[in-house]
Amino acid sequence: MTRPISITKTSQSKLSSVDFDNIPFGKVFSDHMFIADYKDGEWQDLRIVPFGPMEMHPAMMGIHYGQSIFEGMKASKMADGTPVFFRPEMHAKRINRSAERMCMPTFPEDTFVQALHELVGLDANWIPPHEGSALYIRPIMYATDEFIGVKPSNTYRLLIFTGPVGPYYPKPVSLITEQKYVRAVRGGVGEAKAAGNYGGSLLPAKIANSKGYDQVMWLDAHEFKYVQEVGTMNLFFVIDDVVVTPSTNGAILKGITRDSILAILREKGYPVEERMVSIDEIVSAYKAGKLQEAFGAGTAAVIAHVSKIEHDGFLMELPPMEDRKIGPMLKDEINGLRSGRLDDHYGWVVPVKTAEAVAI
Ligand SMILES: *Cc1c(COP(=O)(O)O)cnc(C)c1O
Repeated sequence: MTRPISITKTSQSKLSSVDFDNIPFGKVFSDHMFIADYKDGEWQDLRIVPFGPMEMHPAMMGIHYGQSIFEGMKASKMADGTPVFFRPEMHAKRINRSAERMCMPTFPEDTFVQALHELVGLDANWIPPHEGSALYIRPIMYATDEFIGVKPSNTYRLLIFTGPVGPYYPKPVSLITEQKYVRAVRGGVGEAKAAGNYGGSLLPAKIANSKGYDQVMWLDAHEFKYVQEVGTMNLFFVIDDVVVTPSTNGAILKGITRDSILAILREKGYPVEERMVSIDEIVSAYKAGKLQEAFGAGTAAVIAHVSKIEHDGFLMELPPMEDRKIGPMLKDEINGLRSGRLDDHYGWVVPVKTAEAVAI
């Protein structure tokens, strides 16, 4: 069902002040944002307004008790200039799964996708043209009751705002396993993109940095034995020509990049296993010379190759980039679908309805 979304356009676009060849990540925001407010049991006052700061009551519950969730997705331009989303309905579904876990109201999925089209259609000129560049889209929902006391809020706000990001050329990342802190526990909120998960990961990440590593490799919370994720990405290994990724068992965020990778690999006939993966298995594979690749997968980087992993004082140096096949193939495949260089027979690439089409 489409719902009326009122649009107030900015009188002063900031677009001309942006250098698309040199965009600092996460600091530049486009002209408009979408807002919807939940009160009296329904989402109301759906609107697109000029992007800018908002007033906040000091007792706003979302910042006290953690009813705050988000999404991260991208719109990009195909080589012929057509703006596209990548699997937008999957993000609509996932924000609702996060909402349910955090005792927040869901937002109608078709209206979420409609809001994406209208917002990004309006700011389509903000999508950088180069392959690998994108308009990053950040939906966020948080509790807005002005109240001190732990209970579910009665009111919420959903915001969607965007900002251009340059191509992400991460150098391979170095990892260290974490044996004191955990990211998520089965039964907890690790499957939700809940704000607190990221707050909790910062101290261990800082400790990993101080030891000279880029990111933490998270182990399970019960035995510190099974690998889960890396930083804020899902984790893949190539062991003896088999692609292995930890099964999502309640403590792992179900990444849309992860899901896309599994579909691509299965379709191409690569052997793939989704199962529990112990750190001991990784160490044994390494010692036997069978650990060929490791990489993280997520919307921001698509694929982040792992250069080395330290576990319990033992350092594993992975093969050089030129010996890796599967990670680079996957990155090329996903970027190729987004740019229109490869034919999208999956139905993942969704053209953005332009402002003119939306107005009809
Ligand atoms: C968002 C996220 C991912 C990756 O999900 P994508 O949908 O692929 O971007 C993986 N792990 C965590 C913890 C995340 O927050």
